[in-house]
Amino acid sequence: MKTRGPGTVYLVGAGPGAPDLLTVRAARLLGEAEIVFHDALVPKEILALAPNAKLVAVGKRSGRFSTAQQFINKQLLDAARRYRSVVRLKGGDPMLFGRAHEEIEFLAAKGIAVTIVPGVTAALAASAELGISLTRRGEARSVTFVTPRVGAGTSKSSWLQAALAADTVAIYMGAGQGSAIAQALIAAGKPGTTPVAVVENASLPEMSVSFTNLDGLRVLAAPAGPALILIGEVYREAAAALGLRRSASHAA
Ligand code: SAH
Repeated sequence: MKTRGPGTVYLVGAGPGAPDLLTVRAARLLGEAEIVFHDALVPKEILALAPNAKLVAVGKRSGRFSTAQQFINKQLLDAARRYRSVVRLKGGDPMLFGRAHEEIEFLAAKGIAVTIVPGVTAALAASAELGISLTRRGEARSVTFVTPRVGAGTSKSSWLQAALAADTVAIYMGAGQGSAIAQALIAAGKPGTTPVAVVENASLPEMSVSFTNLDGLRVLAAPAGPALILIGEVYREAAAALGLRRSASHAA
């Protein structure tokens, strides 16, 4: 099975976690893969679809050990020179907060063929679980995907401007900074009563949802698992029906 390169590197979306939210194309490519480089959050049921592949964890998990991007790039290149079918499996969709650009650019510069396979991104899985559309006719016409996280040496994030401009906001990689996020939005003029849904482990059996508002987000305990913060008027009825966390407004 070796020295048949240069192969193709498939950047494949693994979806939000539920194995059956994987695309049929992703499942097929996993079945054909000789080597799979996967993120830490990809569940074992999905990895089991690649029985013939060598599995390499290149964990990306905020706050924990993660393999440096340059090292991942180099590993992908070496694998493409050795194997015919290399899968780089990423959580959700590879083209959203997945550093796909860096891998595509690096591999393309080395003459390696790269093919992208989309996946269900966390915001869409969370919306499905909530049963609440990100858009609403006549009321919510824009959605923004933002992250407040900035990498070392990169430019300042413009997430706040984007979040203020959109009707519905999906914040990735922000659950540990809920308080700072809420304060920044409130300081910029968003009402503290703006509805918020925090969805942890969307699509997985251990999913948990908290409805609150920006005032409540300031004091909400940070979820332990991967979580999205969704903000917008579309969450108002659901938040009201389930009862906003009253303690939040007292503590604020
Ligand atoms: N490419 C991925 C996002 C990677 S950034 C995608 O398209 O979904 C990682 C962030 O995604 C996490 O910090 C969290 O905000 C979000 N996330 C990933 N999986 C999630 C899940 N199952 N439930 C809720 N949020 C999730």
